Amino acid sequence: MKINVYLSQVNYSTGSGKFKGYWLPYSIGTLWSYAQQFEHIKENFTLKELLFKRETPEVLLNRIEDPKIFCFSSYVWNHEYNKTIAKSVKEKYPECLIVFGGPQITKFPERNNFFEEHPYIDTISLGEGEGNFEKILNDYLSSEVKQIYKFDRIDELVFPSPYELGLFDQMIKDHPNLQWNAVLETNRGCPFKCTFCDWGSLTYSKLKKFNVERVFSDLEWMGKHKIGYVSLADANFGCFRERDMIITEKMIEVQNKYGYPETIDATWYKNLNKSVIDMVKKFIENGFNRGFSLSLQSMNEDTLKSIERSNMKLNKFHEILDLCNEQQIPSYTELILGLPHETKDTWCEGICDLVEAGQHNSIESWLTQMLENSQLNQEREEHGIQTVFLENYYTSNEDFVGEVAEIVVATKYMPFEDLIDSWMYSWMITNFHIYGWTQIYSIFLRKNKDLSFYSFYNHLLSLVIKDKGVVGDEYRKTKERVSKYLSGEKTVDYSGHTLLWDSQQVFHKNSDDIRDFCLGIFKTYCNNENVIIAQTDFITSFGVDKKTILLNENIFHYCYKSEPLKGGIYSYNLTIREPYGSEDDYMRMFYFKRRQGWGKYRIEDFK
Ligand code: SF4
Repeated sequence: MKINVYLSQVNYSTGSGKFKGYWLPYSIGTLWSYAQQFEHIKENFTLKELLFKRETPEVLLNRIEDPKIFCFSSYVWNHEYNKTIAKSVKEKYPECLIVFGGPQITKFPERNNFFEEHPYIDTISLGEGEGNFEKILNDYLSSEVKQIYKFDRIDELVFPSPYELGLFDQMIKDHPNLQWNAVLETNRGCPFKCTFCDWGSLTYSKLKKFNVERVFSDLEWMGKHKIGYVSLADANFGCFRERDMIITEKMIEVQNKYGYPETIDATWYKNLNKSVIDMVKKFIENGFNRGFSLSLQSMNEDTLKSIERSNMKLNKFHEILDLCNEQQIPSYTELILGLPHETKDTWCEGICDLVEAGQHNSIESWLTQMLENSQLNQEREEHGIQTVFLENYYTSNEDFVGEVAEIVVATKYMPFEDLIDSWMYSWMITNFHIYGWTQIYSIFLRKNKDLSFYSFYNHLLSLVIKDKGVVGDEYRKTKERVSKYLSGEKTVDYSGHTLLWDSQQVFHKNSDDIRDFCLGIFKTYCNNENVIIAQTDFITSFGVDKKTILLNENIFHYCYKSEPLKGGIYSYNLTIREPYGSEDDYMRMFYFKRRQGWGKYRIEDFK
């Protein structure tokens, strides 16, 4: 009789209705595929099941058969769930070896009393999982399993892929009505060491490559199995210029052959260069992905130095953004609020600097999440970091076990009130500038009256705060919500995770009020009728998919194409960015399509 092994890497589902999907559990799949190289393991162990979705302990315990080894892959989105299931398994099967691994498992188990606090866990795996897994199975055969396994790194990434071994084939057959998302790993490791991240610390710095034939075979498998969404696990796709371009070409070939994958998401190389842009262009031209991530985390030099991200070339950013704008590549920039050395002033100035640099498409402001194995977790005292544990950060109706996120709510540079004000500044830039309501006004005033974005938006904020209408109400409601949320209060009808974008639906339901409010501020500086028409027509309306507007000046070319302001008759064709169904769909897209510029018409004449 072989020994029964269960491997669990559950995640939340994605999409809904006929689009409901799950992630294929790639990380635990690679544990098994790596171990299959060893004959004694093949002879002695059998993989009973790869678990991929959240189920209640009752459902799971009714199904599993005599588990001898149960391994859990833990991260922020499943750690509490894993603990609940592990406890139940241990109660029913006390002899079953419970193993935990993944980025959520502390690197300092002794210091953190890990085993005292988790008595149902027998063994933990630190570092790369595959080597540990093989050793654990090996030691199990001789009844010498240890509590802690630390494996440095696999020398050469040469072992079979779980796709190639067909580990997920049955799972797909058993669930014909589900969509699947998959992870593609072409290399492993990251040369950067950002202190807020736990990935760098997990995989260390040296980049190691899987051979290209394996990557091609995985892509073929994904195409054949109609995998709609693929996420590239690489921390810096594009860093191997020639090789990554060859992989990109293969993705296109596979998509042309099978129609899948439809979407491929990449985290791009941080030291951006022309060849990365060429790859991004290919991704966008082939519809893999419609937003190019230009992540900076902060615009403040001291912060970047402190989080060890100063090696990212900031001056390159302007150059790349110009290229994106010129070539109509939609880009988005992510910032993280609450990092060391960031103050309210540096945050508000920084976000306006980003707009000055030409980021008008999408800016996302996230909160700093304290990750167990990040360097930042060791620097709490130094930076006076205060946090809150939020049980409602990841929300889902599958949440019979709530996950917990530890979020930074104050530092010695940014007290709680300043953090809330900074977040509200982001709310204003997102909802007025990025969604377009003041975008033409502010760009025109910047170019024509030399009014900085910082001055314009500070003025706007002062009026928003005083406003007695929809705008002011929305500001006050959101501020109250984010304050309560970050104080750790349970939210009932909203999620803090999406709060930054929620107001946009209210803006569109009250579009006349919002337009009047924005016009009011513009008129304190200028009365140009063409700008007012361009701005008014720039914002989408439900049911109006295209329109043509006539202007007596080349306002759009002036604002977006660096052309001088000229008089004449200019006809502009504006179209919606994507088709939509019901009004509810249209409204939901303000969040889901935020990186694609949803809410603003596309100016067709720029093609
Ligand atoms: S944030 Fe990205 S670039 Fe920085 S260490 Fe983590 S994986 Fe590497």
